[in-house]
Amino acid sequence: TTFQEFGLADPITRALKEENYTTPTPIQAQTIPIAITGKDVIGIAQTGTGKTASFALPILHRLLENRIKPQPKTCRVLVLSPTRELSGQILDSFNAYGRHMHLASALAIGGVPMGRQVRSLMQGVDVLVATPGRLLDLVQSNGLKLNMVEFLVLDEADRMLDMGFINDIRKVVAKLPIKRQTLFFSATMPKDIADLAEAMLKDPARVAV
Ligand code: AMP
Repeated sequence: TTFQEFGLADPITRALKEENYTTPTPIQAQTIPIAITGKDVIGIAQTGTGKTASFALPILHRLLENRIKPQPKTCRVLVLSPTRELSGQILDSFNAYGRHMHLASALAIGGVPMGRQVRSLMQGVDVLVATPGRLLDLVQSNGLKLNMVEFLVLDEADRMLDMGFINDIRKVVAKLPIKRQTLFFSATMPKDIADLAEAMLKDPARVAV
């Protein structure tokens, strides 16, 4: 498989060339052709497999297919991740792959004052990467509305459950539009994770590496 075969939009293909990505990894080869059609995906994959690009690339492609300016205090893409560090890495990846498409992006993580995050959301963003607790704080303080989310990603769902984020995740998902695309990634798939996925996804395709 090559990246050309996916038919990704030109600004994305150019960024991949600059990143020196020539060959998709197995999780990318399986996930991108499905996610680019708008279908929900459950992926079983570890860190280091290239899973960030497997969700970021098809989402960026779909954002380009429908270029609209985000509404104030909203995001079009919401990525939930367990830790501040991983959230920062995911944001960096979106910014790298989206560098030729004027992407507006922001981070919402705990442990730092909320003011700057509130300000960075004021105009609205295309992509918001967040840890669940801070995301809910921002929503509850009216810094963010979740009613315009078109794409939801859960990354490292098993770690988020281990860290006790299950109720926060359920609260977030309850505020999202029903009509959205959801991409769900976990390194393992025990029953509680499978149940969570079942409740959040619509007719998902399953991929595993
Ligand atoms: P991840 O599993 O998403 O954390 O990615 C692990 C590392 O692999 C990151 O440093 C990526 O930049 C890199 N990477 C992801 N996909 C590819 C690819 N297709 N070719 C080369 N490097 C890649």
